[in-house]
Amino acid sequence: MTPTIRTVLGDLDPAELGATDSHDHLFIRSPLLPGEELDDPAAAEGVLRAFAAAGGRSFVQWTPYGMGRGADSLARLSRVTGVHVVAATGLHQAAHYDPDTLPALYDGLSERFIAELTTGLTAEPATEPPGPPGPPAAPEAPEAPASPEAVRAGLIKVACDPGTTTAHTRQVMAAAASAHHATGAPIAVHLEPRAHPHLVLNRLHVRHGVPPHRIILGHLTRLPDVRVHRELAAEGVYFALDSPSRAGHPADHQAFDVIADLVEAGHASRLLLGADTTTRTARRADGPTELLNDLVPRLARTFGPELPGLLLTANPAAAFATDWRTP
Ligand SMILES: [Zn+2]
Repeated sequence: MTPTIRTVLGDLDPAELGATDSHDHLFIRSPLLPGEELDDPAAAEGVLRAFAAAGGRSFVQWTPYGMGRGADSLARLSRVTGVHVVAATGLHQAAHYDPDTLPALYDGLSERFIAELTTGLTAEPATEPPGPPGPPAAPEAPEAPASPEAVRAGLIKVACDPGTTTAHTRQVMAAAASAHHATGAPIAVHLEPRAHPHLVLNRLHVRHGVPPHRIILGHLTRLPDVRVHRELAAEGVYFALDSPSRAGHPADHQAFDVIADLVEAGHASRLLLGADTTTRTARRADGPTELLNDLVPRLARTFGPELPGLLLTANPAAAFATDWRTP
């Protein structure tokens, strides 16, 4: 079998991937970021068109279940812009969910992840509590499709906690590992500034048997400890280095130095790049396009013309491609 990358329009030959934003968001919402929701399909289309005009070919969205992934829009946006889009299943930290509905999600969690990877993204809980009864809903337009297009996830997104590992995280990581074993899907991890990424590796790899090369760690630039970076890279995990990230995140300026250190230590093959746009404020910085117009030329000037192709194209092609299995 040939490994493929599972996009919202189907499975893609990794050779077709092209320049890739390996960690970003077209759609995301969280109760922790009120008023900063990315929920506008027209704005998302603008992001993809600008990215494509700058030479971008593929966009990997790390928004997990229950955070407004834009499941109804992703296939159309990919089709009209020509940019390959990968969607995610998985769960974020507990704080991003309604505490009243979260416990019900733990039952059958790995089955939900597997279904989203192999059949299609499932419906998310409503954003707003039900209001007073309004006028009766208008009848559906006759041209509306009977059921929305099935859009499958191509990766599993999980998160670690600051400090310790909570019961929520333990359950989510166990379910993610189980879904990985059932399908082959890669697992992408949100790291916290005070987290210890070795704990993530211990849980996913040592305890649950996920191979290091199927794990992609995000936000390493927030943990400016080059020794830890080098140890993790030597284990074989991938890093999604988020730069320019979050429009003014304090870790932004560290990204280039982190990349430089890992390249000089011989770990260029483990590195992916992404803009990780999570808010409306951050979107004004146009991260996906800046990635190609700013960071990539700087990398080429410092390390030669080969490095951008490795970080933007060859490495994500390897990190996101898998021999998909259907349990
Ligand atoms: Zn992210």
